[in-house]
Amino acid sequence: MNSPEISVALPVFNEAENLDELNERLAHVLASTGRTWEIVYVDDGSGDASFEKMAAFARKDPRVRALRFSRNFGHQMALTAGVDAARGRIVAVMDADLQDPPELLGEMLKKVDAGYEVVYAQRTKREGEGAFKLWTAHVFYRLLKRWTNVDIPVDVGDFRLMGPRAVAAFRRLRERHRFIRGMTAWVGFRQVGVPYVRPARTRGETKFPLRKMLRFALDGLTSFSHVPLQLATWLGFATSFFAFLYILVVLALWILRINVPGWTTLMVFVLLLGGMQLMVIGVLGEYLGRVYDEVKGRPLYVVAEEVGGEGPGEDTAKV
Ligand code: UDP
Ligand code: MG
Repeated sequence: MNSPEISVALPVFNEAENLDELNERLAHVLASTGRTWEIVYVDDGSGDASFEKMAAFARKDPRVRALRFSRNFGHQMALTAGVDAARGRIVAVMDADLQDPPELLGEMLKKVDAGYEVVYAQRTKREGEGAFKLWTAHVFYRLLKRWTNVDIPVDVGDFRLMGPRAVAAFRRLRERHRFIRGMTAWVGFRQVGVPYVRPARTRGETKFPLRKMLRFALDGLTSFSHVPLQLATWLGFATSFFAFLYILVVLALWILRINVPGWTTLMVFVLLLGGMQLMVIGVLGEYLGRVYDEVKGRPLYVVAEEVGGEGPGEDTAKV
């Protein structure tokens, strides 16, 4: 197949019940743009019939391709594999659970035509999500904005369209702890948001429990900010300053031969300093672990199988 104008890459993890509607709506929207297109599904180690479904689409329509990971590598890796495999000049990435409405693609495409390299969908409202998730997401995006030099837009997920230059730049970013919404901001060029209301999941449930959300938030923060690392410096300066003042007090008491019992004060300081030191070591550990992961230089993902396009057949594992 020659390169189509637009590729849509979708990470899929146990979304079998969404795929029929998704594929149909996507194909319909893409056809209405009047351009050549392809859909690249990346099965992130699903345990359900997701891959069989997408492979069936791919066998029926040469414009649909299905990749299967050798195991679950995570949403960000599946997205990356989709962009890597895409042959289109313009690449769209979106979730496969219909929370990123395919119908928005038309409007986003117009922005790419107008010369924007990155067009992201910005949530003005999120339906069907709990107050806790909404609040933590709100705080997180604002904190990230404050603490980074990269202009990462707030309330934006990974649903976006990239022009050829942004795609080329993005493919060169091979970091392991990936925060794609930040990485596509990092590449620069002209970027613009298209507002939309993010609908609730129609079927299935979220694959991002709190634990994974926290990991992901930490990846975002550590990938784009050194502020947590500098915490030690600031805490160190502040404690040293107060410690110095307190030493003067202690010395004065000693000279005046005033003996204070002092157990409470000692305990407070020991616990406070101990806690602070452990916390800072924890921050160091977070960064160090990530450095270790990067240094190993492992491939980001392993593809087990590819159906459609001109991809290799079964069992030709490649990375
Ligand atoms: N996903 C994936 N691998 C994972 C978890 C999720 O490929 O380990 C896919 C999932 O199928 C969906 C997208 O990533 O297409 C977003 O996941 P989800 O909808 O569960 O996240 P939420 O919208 O709740 O943040
Ligand atoms: Mg979702």
